[in-house]
Amino acid sequence: MTGWLRIVGLGPGAEGMVTPEVTGVLAQATDVVGYIPYVARIAPRNGLTLYPSDNRVEADRALHALTLAAAGRRVVVVSSGDPGVFAMASAVFEVVEPHPAFHALDIAVLPGITAMLAAAAAAGAPLGHDFCTINLSDNLKPWATIERRLLAAVAGDFAMAFYNPRSRARPEGFGRVLDLLTRTCEPGRLITFARAVSTPDQSLRTVTLAEARPEMADMRTVVLIGSSATRRAGPWIYTPRGVA
Ligand code: SAH
Repeated sequence: MTGWLRIVGLGPGAEGMVTPEVTGVLAQATDVVGYIPYVARIAPRNGLTLYPSDNRVEADRALHALTLAAAGRRVVVVSSGDPGVFAMASAVFEVVEPHPAFHALDIAVLPGITAMLAAAAAAGAPLGHDFCTINLSDNLKPWATIERRLLAAVAGDFAMAFYNPRSRARPEGFGRVLDLLTRTCEPGRLITFARAVSTPDQSLRTVTLAEARPEMADMRTVVLIGSSATRRAGPWIYTPRGVA
């Protein structure tokens, strides 16, 4: 049997946001590998082995999945949102790169709806013009790099989406981000805190930078900060397509 590996995104939570392509490969899979809460979204069935694993073991998980595929299994690695956005696709290729034995494997990455796009859609169109995305976790990069990129994005007047804004292990970082934004942007700049988008727990809250507090974000929140042009249209937040 010829094995394969598919690295898929399950979207932000709602079943309707899982692509038909991803549903299709899950139906053919023999094995599903991923972080516990994402594997929990896969319905068990005969012939399917589920391998839920803890966070922060991405390299082990990737090697396990590649080894299963090399042995002829049909393996799906699941991420939430899109697998290429702060998720498993890069983790898999980090393991593939130094292992020539894996270079000829049948591997494909299947996209998903990433959190910022689901959040932006729920809010209106805050990312409707140029924007950038920053992972605020300093697990895998120094804090100085986060600040440098943040300042560059402010200087470029990008709208921004922040992933992993705040966790129990890193309670301070997001407060520092808000301080930095407060020093460099106007106080009326709009910020949307989008939590658990597309799940029953969804909440969406837009405030000005002056009103924003670190406690408004947690690990289930993606934070969207507008550019200087981002504004309200009734209940909606949007960034116009043209800038002066
Ligand atoms: N691959 C994922 C991101 C993984 S990083 C994606 O493409 O969406 C985990 C971070 O994603 C969380 O800390 C949060 O910032 C964001 N996130 C994931 N799902 C979310 C959801 N349903 N609502 C809001 N933010 C979400």
